[in-house]
Amino acid sequence: MNLIPDGASVGVPGSVTVREIGLTEALEKRGSKVSVHWDPELKPADKNERLMEELTSDWFVMSTNALSADDGVFVNIDGTGNRVGAMSWAPGKLLIILGVNKIESDTASALKRVRDKATPPNVLRLNGDAPCAAVGHCLNCSSPSRVCRVVALMERPPFGREVHVILVGEELGY
Ligand code: SF4
Repeated sequence: MNLIPDGASVGVPGSVTVREIGLTEALEKRGSKVSVHWDPELKPADKNERLMEELTSDWFVMSTNALSADDGVFVNIDGTGNRVGAMSWAPGKLLIILGVNKIESDTASALKRVRDKATPPNVLRLNGDAPCAAVGHCLNCSSPSRVCRVVALMERPPFGREVHVILVGEELGY
């Protein structure tokens, strides 16, 4: 709350972590403009416009699917690509908030975490029918509802981007 100035606009993709800590509500209460494309009241016809609002906000706030402790690589897998797209490039600043449960020893373990630990509960949350939701781990499926479509590894902050990371000493999100 101290990092994001009053009056700044904030875009939040579908992050369970950000929802769990109540950040969107706190920012809205303070008067910030918060854009979320996962608002259940949003009409499907307005979704792309909302996604653009998220992307062009002063701050883009997300978590990460995993962080490699060995080399500091943030590992994210996306279905639509909006989250990893805005992580890679957007005009605003980037804030990543993660719980300690997202930390893995190296990039290979972080990738494995995303498929075996993060994605199955996310598929369940979104009422998807990819097979990991039933068996609890990745089967590298070819299901039409496969949510693993874009993989992004952020090794360093992209050129010209101000990136902040808040590591929370508790478990948050998947
Ligand atoms: S590839 Fe398919 S089975 Fe594996 S985690 Fe992604 S959606 Fe689930």
